[in-house]
Amino acid sequence: MDTSYIINHLGEEHGAYYNAIAPPIIQTSNFLFETVGDLRKAFDDEYGGYLYSRGLNPTVDILRKKLAALDGAEDCLVFNSGAAAIFASVLSCVKAGDHIVSVRSPYTWAQKMFANTLPRLGVQHSFIDGTHLENWEETILPNTTLFYLESPNSWTYELQDLEAIARLAKERGIITIIDNSYCTPLYQQPHRFGIDLSLQSATKYIGGHSDTVAGVLTGSCKRIEKIFNEELLTIGSSIQPFNAWLLLRGLRTLPMRLEKISATTRVVINWLKTHPAVERVLFPLDPDFPQYQLAQTQMSGACGLFTIILKYRSLLAIEEFCNALKYFRIAVSWGGHESLIIPKCASMPHDAFTPDEESHRMCRLYVGLEEPGFLIADLQQAFDKNVLSS
Ligand SMILES: *Cc1c(COP(=O)(O)O)cnc(C)c1O
Repeated sequence: MDTSYIINHLGEEHGAYYNAIAPPIIQTSNFLFETVGDLRKAFDDEYGGYLYSRGLNPTVDILRKKLAALDGAEDCLVFNSGAAAIFASVLSCVKAGDHIVSVRSPYTWAQKMFANTLPRLGVQHSFIDGTHLENWEETILPNTTLFYLESPNSWTYELQDLEAIARLAKERGIITIIDNSYCTPLYQQPHRFGIDLSLQSATKYIGGHSDTVAGVLTGSCKRIEKIFNEELLTIGSSIQPFNAWLLLRGLRTLPMRLEKISATTRVVINWLKTHPAVERVLFPLDPDFPQYQLAQTQMSGACGLFTIILKYRSLLAIEEFCNALKYFRIAVSWGGHESLIIPKCASMPHDAFTPDEESHRMCRLYVGLEEPGFLIADLQQAFDKNVLSS
């Protein structure tokens, strides 16, 4: 299906809402029934119609249709956060006694769920280096039910070979889930490679304006309906109509935002690669990236998120550099209009900093919608100002 059609037209039935061009925010908690018989039907099949907005809601449904189609998937659920999409999808694949194989450093809250929450329910996991197919194969136990992927991840951008891992999983009757937040469906469509469930944090590029937290999960009708009836309704983690409306609004400009951000990112990265204070840049579509070949086969683009390894050998010099930036603001998250930076050392105590440890000298940058020259000037002045750098 054509992306322009999906984003601008699919799922919109203007006649149902006074021919308004913009979809309405159906801000209601519940829906009326003419007869008890009709209500009974809704109780029997909540996925078949509107009963209560913890389940389905018409504003959310427009968004679900578009996001399913963008992923090339049959169906979609939208959650009130990316973390909720992770939790619901993983929970749907496991029971007490099961085992999960996951990439070794998935998104923080996925990591905490595997390490802290699921063991309490009798679900074990193994974290592996997911860059080699053998590691997946060797870690499978008789009770392994789920492979959890994140490709690329959002700090070091390690990839997994989606097609090979999906094939292995199918042979062994294992379900695959991928966190596709980095690429969005515009730049990677995991279902094409045989992945069962694809999720993303819509807080990032789908919303695109740093004003909404949300998550998307796509898959077959059968799997998605089951997750709706079991996890989504039980956890109560569906998106609110107003937030769904903000995502619809964000979605309209997704292709052009990604295109602009991708182009700016290339210019900024090329400049950084030649700067004397920068040891290395990590970006999956950079020809120097270790998995560049694989990235080219399964991703059609990469946008604003990349990591630099600074040559500065003190934590204070790294902090000083970040503090001196005026327009790369210090904040978590990414995908909005504004450029951002986080140094890895922000998550460690001062005395843990070891300059020989490359990861301690990492800063993650996100390029927003500003012009490349404007951003480079900001980086330049911050490097120049840094008197602690030697
Ligand atoms: C932000 C993020 C999430 C979590 O999404 P929220 O919307 O913040 O709950 C999951 N995975 C990745 C890779 C992320 O960057």
